[in-house]
Amino acid sequence: MQFASLGSGSAGNSFLAKQNKSLLMVDCGFAIQDIVFRLNRLNEVPENISGILLTHEHEDHVKGAFKLANKFKIPIWLSYGTYKMCEKHINKSYEIDLKIIDSHNTFEIEDFIILPFPVPHDAREPTQFILSDGKYKLGILTDTGSSTPHIEKVLQELDALIIEFNHDLNLLELSDYVDSLKKRIRGKLGHLDNQTAAEILGKLQFKKLKHLVAAHLSEKNNSEQLVKGIIVGKIGCESDWIKIATQVDGTPWQVI
Ligand SMILES: [Zn+2]
Ligand SMILES: [Zn+2]
Repeated sequence: MQFASLGSGSAGNSFLAKQNKSLLMVDCGFAIQDIVFRLNRLNEVPENISGILLTHEHEDHVKGAFKLANKFKIPIWLSYGTYKMCEKHINKSYEIDLKIIDSHNTFEIEDFIILPFPVPHDAREPTQFILSDGKYKLGILTDTGSSTPHIEKVLQELDALIIEFNHDLNLLELSDYVDSLKKRIRGKLGHLDNQTAAEILGKLQFKKLKHLVAAHLSEKNNSEQLVKGIIVGKIGCESDWIKIATQVDGTPWQVI
């Protein structure tokens, strides 16, 4: 299995996972021209996408999803809550195969087995995903305000993990954001701060983990150095081994 990020942060998120001829996109938070450009950078075209999985309705995750799905006839998998919140953005003339998922039940798309799991975030029915080709497992966890025992259970024994390191609490406090926004971001239904994300890592088994990617970093209230420093301090890995999914460049393909 291979995976990559097309870009990650508050201005747009999208990840790819590939196994044989199956290509899945998780979230599509960029405008359609931008998505095509970012796909080309990874030597892919929209025609190759087998399916789009949506985590939740926020703009930085769904911006180009329905337009892309309609234009290239790509089915979309999403929870009912996410669907209801996106309904107003789905043009009546669009013909999209929408597949409603149960946020606890495994389902399959071509060569992939997908396990969704619910997360605490200020959206209607947000889910994140574990993608497996039957042998290797990639976990994705972004847009989560706090951890839960269920999250820590499903993230065990992964081969690759993409995890949100959204902000440094001190930088957020010192930022010029209005108090209500600060409160939303650091709240239990907001985004993972560096310390909380590191604590989750500290509870996971890393025997098989080949790739660790930090994602959804705040451009104002975080830095790659801070994130790498806190991860190294927590799990004792090499700093160079940690990858960052950046807003502009995402990540290159990673082979599991
Ligand atoms: Zn987001
Ligand atoms: Zn969100």
